[in-house]
Amino acid sequence: MELYKGVHQIDSIYFGRHLFQYLFVGERLALVDSGIASTPEKFIFPYIDKLQVDPARLGIIITTHPDLDHQGGNAALRKHLPSTVFACGEADRRLVEDPAVLYSSRYNSLKQEHGLGFDDLPSPDAGEACRVDFGFRGGETVVLSPDWDLEVLCVPGHSSGHLALFDRRTKAAFVSDAVHGRGCPEASGAVACPVTYFKVESYLSTIQYLEALKPEALHTGHWPSMYGDEISDFFSESRSTVDAVMRRILKALERTRTGMTLKELLEEVGEEFPEWPKETLELAMFPVKGHLEQLEANGLIRTRHTGWPPRWEAT
Ligand SMILES: [Zn+2]
Repeated sequence: MELYKGVHQIDSIYFGRHLFQYLFVGERLALVDSGIASTPEKFIFPYIDKLQVDPARLGIIITTHPDLDHQGGNAALRKHLPSTVFACGEADRRLVEDPAVLYSSRYNSLKQEHGLGFDDLPSPDAGEACRVDFGFRGGETVVLSPDWDLEVLCVPGHSSGHLALFDRRTKAAFVSDAVHGRGCPEASGAVACPVTYFKVESYLSTIQYLEALKPEALHTGHWPSMYGDEISDFFSESRSTVDAVMRRILKALERTRTGMTLKELLEEVGEEFPEWPKETLELAMFPVKGHLEQLEANGLIRTRHTGWPPRWEAT
């Protein structure tokens, strides 16, 4: 659907959730995110056809962050658009370029040490490897027409190089999965999965940064678009979620005599958020691990290096 003149949200459903890409139609076209491997063929090209626009005008395709549902269509797009430029956050480049690295260094980064993770082989939805031409660090400008550009923002936390786009004309921010509220919703409104930030400090600073930007609209990767007060409520809820996860971990570690593993702490945090489905609870290993690193750096907890997997205890 057209959100603003020349700004389109392309919608499909993946595992019950909305999966949004954004298409900007100026003198040149820009696409933000490519969905899973089949999204270009099934949804993106048909959408561009409907606009009666030549897809060869796509100047740039920006991947906001390394996840199979945001980068999976890159190789399919490149096949049809050999001269279009691809960009992502420089810090995420290796993960965005190669699904094998995405799985080994992101989805299964805790598998060996903590016994938590996913299949070793990338899902076909993750698409094929596809090189990225430009690594953005935030602060760049994407020129769509002489009088229309998008600002590139670096909004880390969910990934180290997570990008967002800001359109000053409409004060709309396109933030993909940079901020998570209390979890990611299904299209029906039920909760699909937990929050999945990796680095606590970066995530909190991203929330603060976006708050200070005062966007009038927030368009995301899976959440319905937000306007006005909904945006500040979403930021507050995101911040209080971080606080609740942290407090639950600390409380559990202050109670235990034997220390707790990452898996045990995951279950503990799951009780704090009963709306997070059991089938997707494992995704909360990333924020829980992020908090453990932060609490340990602050001297509030320590790792017990006795046996496998590692356990944590309060100091
Ligand atoms: Zn996503």
